[in-house]
Order: sequence, then C-alpha cells, then structure tokens
Amino acid sequence: MKALDKLTFDNRFARLGDAFSTHVLPEPLDAPRLVVASEAAMALLDLDPAVAQTPVFAELFGGHKLWAEAEPRAMVYSGHQFGGYTPQLGDGRGLLLGEVYNEAGEHWDLHLKGAGMTPYSRMGDGRAVLRSSIREFLASEALHALGIPSSRALCVIGSDTPVWREKQERGAMVLRMAHSHIRFGHFEYFYYTKKPEQQALLAEHVLNLHYPECREQPEPYLAMFREIVERNAELIAKWQAYGFCHGVMNTDNMSILGITFDFGPFAFLDDFDAHFICNHSDHEGRYSFSNQVPIGQWNLSALAQALTPFISVDALKEALGLYLPLYQANYLDLMRRRLGLTTAEDDDQQLVERLLKLMQNSGVDYTLFFRRLGDESAALAVARLRDDFVDLAGFDAWAEQYKARVARDGDYGEEQRRARMHAVNPLYILRNYLAQNAIAAAESGDYSEVRRLHEVLSKPFEEQAGMEQYAQRPPDWGKHLEISCSS
Ligand code: AMP
Ligand code: MG
Repeated sequence: MKALDKLTFDNRFARLGDAFSTHVLPEPLDAPRLVVASEAAMALLDLDPAVAQTPVFAELFGGHKLWAEAEPRAMVYSGHQFGGYTPQLGDGRGLLLGEVYNEAGEHWDLHLKGAGMTPYSRMGDGRAVLRSSIREFLASEALHALGIPSSRALCVIGSDTPVWREKQERGAMVLRMAHSHIRFGHFEYFYYTKKPEQQALLAEHVLNLHYPECREQPEPYLAMFREIVERNAELIAKWQAYGFCHGVMNTDNMSILGITFDFGPFAFLDDFDAHFICNHSDHEGRYSFSNQVPIGQWNLSALAQALTPFISVDALKEALGLYLPLYQANYLDLMRRRLGLTTAEDDDQQLVERLLKLMQNSGVDYTLFFRRLGDESAALAVARLRDDFVDLAGFDAWAEQYKARVARDGDYGEEQRRARMHAVNPLYILRNYLAQNAIAAAESGDYSEVRRLHEVLSKPFEEQAGMEQYAQRPPDWGKHLEISCSS
C-alpha cells in the first residue's frame, strides 16, 4: 500500500507533444471535500483506502495541489456528434493529470473532470456539477462490478463553487481512470485536419502501448483495427444484455480500448423497452437502446475512414464486417446464460426474442425478471412470474418452450441452477431513481446515500442483508425521470 505522494508517473501521452495536447493547470474548487471514493479503484493505484479521508486527498482531486511529476494536459480531438462532424472538440473541462503505473506494472491515466477552462472549452465554463459527477462515479464502478468494461472512477470531490446550469448548482470533480483516454475522435481530428505525421505518431502510440500483440501480425494496423472492432462488438453485446443505454454515442465518446466511456444522460432499463431513449435531447432516437447496435458499427466506420491512410479500404470493410456476427454471437451467449442455459440450440435466438417482445408489451422489469427466473426451478419460476405479463396466453406458450428447452439443457438441481443464474443476473443495478435519491441527499450535504449505493452496487450479484430497498422496481415518480442533459 502506498501513500498518496508515492505514486509513480510516466506521462507517455504528454510526451507526444503540443500537437496532441496543451499544458493547463487545474482551477481549484472552493472548500473541496470528499463525497465518495472507490476502494477498488484506489487499489488499482496501490493506495491505502485510509488516504481518501485525509485533507490532501480532497486538495489533490479538487485541483488545489499537484504531484511534482504530474503533467496536466488537455487533449485535442474531434468527432461525429449525432451524425454530424464537429471539427474540433477536446478536453473542455477535463485534464489528463498524468499516467501512473502501479506495482503490477499497469498504467492508469488519471483524468480530472470538471477541472476548469482549457483551450477547448468553446462556450463552456470548464466545470462539472455534483449530480453529473456522482452519476459518472456510480455508473463507472457499477458497470465494472457487472463485468462490463468501463473507465473507472477514483472519487468525487464536492465544493462550494457555484456553477450555473438551468439553475445554480455546485461544482464538483470526478477523478476518472482508464488505460487510455484516446477516443475514435483523436484519429478523426488528425485525419480531417490533414496532419499525416501526427496521425502516424498517434497510431504508433496506440499500437505500441495498447495493442502490442498486433505488432506480430503481417499488417499491424489492420490487426489493431480488427481488435477494436471485436472489443466494441463485445462491449455493446454486454450493454444490450444488461440493459445499459449510453445515451451519447458520439465518436468522441468512443474509446479505442472498447470500454464504456464518457457518461452523460445514460440509464439502465427498468421496464424492458427496446425503443427507450434516455437522452431527452435525442429527439430522433439516434441513440435509443436498440439503435446502439447499428450505431456501434456506424462509429467504427467513422474510425475506419480516419484510418484509410494506413489500411486499404477493402481490408477495413472486411474488418467492419466482423462486427455484427460477433455482436450477435456475444449477445446470444450472454442471454443464454441469463436464461440459465449451458448449451446452444438453433432456436435460442428466437426464444430470447419472443421473451423480450412479451416483456416489452407488459412493461416487465428487465433486471428482476432474470433474477427471479433463477430463484427456483424453471417450472416454479415461470409460474410465479406469469402474473407480471398481460398477454398470459403468449407468456404460457413461451414458458412451455422455455421449460422444454431447460429440460433438454441438462438435469441440474435447483441449487446449482440458482447459483449459476444468480452469478450472471444482478439483483442490484443503478436505477435512475436510486441515483436521483442519492444525488438529492448529496446536494443537501449528506453523502451517506451515495456511499451506501456505491457499496451495494459493488456486489451486484450478491444478496445483501438489509438492502432490499435497492432491489425494487422504481416507484411511480421514479419511472420516467427526465435526466438533465446539462452536466
Ligand atoms: P460531452 O457531451 O460531455 O461528451 O462533451 C462534448 C464536448 O463538450 C467535449 O469537448 C467536452 O469537453 C465539452 N464540454 C462539455 N461540457 C463542458 C463545459 N461545461 N465546459 C467546457 N467544455 C465542455
Ligand atoms: Mg465527451
């Protein structure tokens, strides 16, 4: 375990130079204080969890202090936002403080979001508010606990600094961690600004640091692109299987590592709804829940376009062709497991689709359905779940098909079935209304609910004593919350 001042830095991205990022110092928050810290994320830096309680922790991650070896940089990138190209974006309110490597030799970017104005702030104030910082923190750590690749969050620091959104709020900072903060939009920036030398440097950087195994391949850049396609297909299969709606899948919010990245008005589904749009400014539903699958491919095509200086168009097209079949295979595999199946049959896709249609028509809670399905034998579970459906005949027909399928799958005891299914079907997810409750308390100065929710969500598959209230369907007020897109 390390003390805070013992972090080891190696700022590889900063060394790429001024064409890639600009040196900017964080702008301190007034009266910085710890809202919540993730012990699991601290462990990735070998930090003793006790240091989160020391004043210097809030000073460091509230922008007051800096390690001598840190080199805070605002990165430049661009990207396609809602389908249109924006020529210049960049870290408008976040700073890559530096890259730290831990005792296991892993590198972690430390990125402070809400750290003040940068050359890329455009019309913004460089700040982030408490509510959006808490949401990003909770979501990153909850996704990780579910086994869904995501950037991580070390802590949220609250403050007295006033920040204007629809009303006056308080500024906060969230310390985000990832092996890289390079986005699809980084490659697009150098491609569209016609800077081939810098683009080649960036490609080399990513290949060497993040895809070194691709070096061994006859066409290293193509191998790297294929790997990015694969990782994104796997990631989006997980989002779809677990009901995560990202909300702003612009190419500047897509990580070259295939992790969930940049949290805005995201949501986990309560009732299953394939057409759910969590982002209220997304009037056409470009980023609706089911559209995430084709949008994943659209975004990869935008990246492919930016890689045309390095890879032939035919090879890029072929690699892009891997996306959909890979997505489908991964998704079906996850859904089979959620249904408690251990073998594969041709009709499984149809079994899943029929179930989702029934859930959609009856507004069935997506998370609780699968959890309860594993509580007891298939026959008992479907008998109990039947009441949640409006189309009883439709459900009965599905239930017969499911029971027969389970019988063919193998003869397991109830205990074994429960253990296997509960290990993949969470009891606790980050429901919007739970986040909202925690945020309301935090805004009035009580951080205990954020901390408790974070704890519960860090073990989503384990039933936790006294935490029943976190495993319920939302109350009526919490069902269709409009989450502000400002952050
Ligand atoms: P996002 O929608 O959060 O992915 O942000 C899109 C772009 O707007 C990025 O370049 C952000 O850095 C920038 N941005 C968002 N909010 C602010 C803000 N309050 N101040 C400055 N830049 C911002
Ligand atoms: Mg963004």
